[in-house]
Amino acid sequence: MSILVFVECADGSIKKSSREAVSYAAEAGNLLGDHEVIAVVLGKYPEEELESLGSNGASKVILVDDERLNENQIRVYSDILSELVQSQAASLVVMSKSSFSDNVGGRIAGKTGASIVSNVTSLPDVSSGFSVNKSIFTGKAFATVSMSGDKKILLVKRNIVEIKESSDKALIEKRAVPDGCVFSEKITGKSKAEGDVLLDDAEIVVSGGRGLRGPENWGIIEDLARALGAAKGCSKPVSDLEWRPHHEHVGQTGVKVSPNLYIAIGISGAIQHLAGVNSSKVLVAINKDPDAPFFKAADYGIVGDAFEIVPRLTKKVKSL
Ligand SMILES: Cc1cc2nc3c(=O)[nH]c(=O)nc-3n(C[C@H](O)[C@H](O)[C@H](O)COP(=O)(O)OP(=O)(O)OC[C@H]3O[C@@H](n4cnc5c(N)ncnc54)[C@H](O)[C@@H]3O)c2cc1C
Repeated sequence: MSILVFVECADGSIKKSSREAVSYAAEAGNLLGDHEVIAVVLGKYPEEELESLGSNGASKVILVDDERLNENQIRVYSDILSELVQSQAASLVVMSKSSFSDNVGGRIAGKTGASIVSNVTSLPDVSSGFSVNKSIFTGKAFATVSMSGDKKILLVKRNIVEIKESSDKALIEKRAVPDGCVFSEKITGKSKAEGDVLLDDAEIVVSGGRGLRGPENWGIIEDLARALGAAKGCSKPVSDLEWRPHHEHVGQTGVKVSPNLYIAIGISGAIQHLAGVNSSKVLVAINKDPDAPFFKAADYGIVGDAFEIVPRLTKKVKSL
């Protein structure tokens, strides 16, 4: 039996979220017993990068190396992955949760008859059947879902397992695009979001809210982000007011982030903002109001004026 893991790359490198998905699959494989973890990569990418998936727990990488697949496309990705589910006798498919994988996973479930759960927050419990926990109500609550059938698809949230590291390398097996797959969409233009670190895959995010009072004060956010090698985010009103670009807007209606560290500065902690950050490993809030709701969600809080605290924090980070 095999576990297939859909692996995504960006700028020629494997996404951290995909390394987590492979590590998750390896742990799930140990629980299920006698399962080979096969990573699936669609597109043309450097083989030495893909071999490194062995260190995360994949024994093999199936590489469908066709340059047309370097752009995410729901239909053709679903067709290829569905064919692989059948040909590899996969009992489990693992994908990192995103709006793209929700779309692709749903189509694979339709084509293969697999059961599917999104927003998964735990390894499977196989003590009696097969069940997983998932987050519901934008992360405010959890549900346990029992899954039946011989094929299952899990769309796994970030930071559920540690990334496995070893010196192992995965074997690469190249494939052509299967006959009958239709390339029905083509990206004809692209404009890349500005910024050194991409928000949705960042290890650290420094985010500012309306407490910063105006765009002219964003220097303290930028300095701290630079010192930490972090991506920059903001609350919705900040982007609505055009203090910051819309691609930095974090929350229910913006980008959903899952960094190791999220620092919220002058952000009140409205439920719609928290919905986009509650998969972060560690949440830090800096707010001058001790009753700001963010402090209830935060792992660490600093009560005080951002204009005083953030430059001191940046100085300390630089000195380290
Ligand atoms: C349908 C819907 C969807 C939404 N989606 C989103 C979303 O995706 N993302 C999102 O962010 N919001 C979203 N919102 C808006 C959300 O409800 C809040 O209004 C918003 O998050 C508040 O932004 P804020 O915390 O920056 O501003 P405010 O609520 O104005 O809070 C500013 C905070 O800064 C603090 N502060 C002020 N001065 C300082 C200082 N000098 N130092 C330190 N702290 C200071 C204040 O104490 C306060 O807590 C949505 C709302 C709706 C209705």
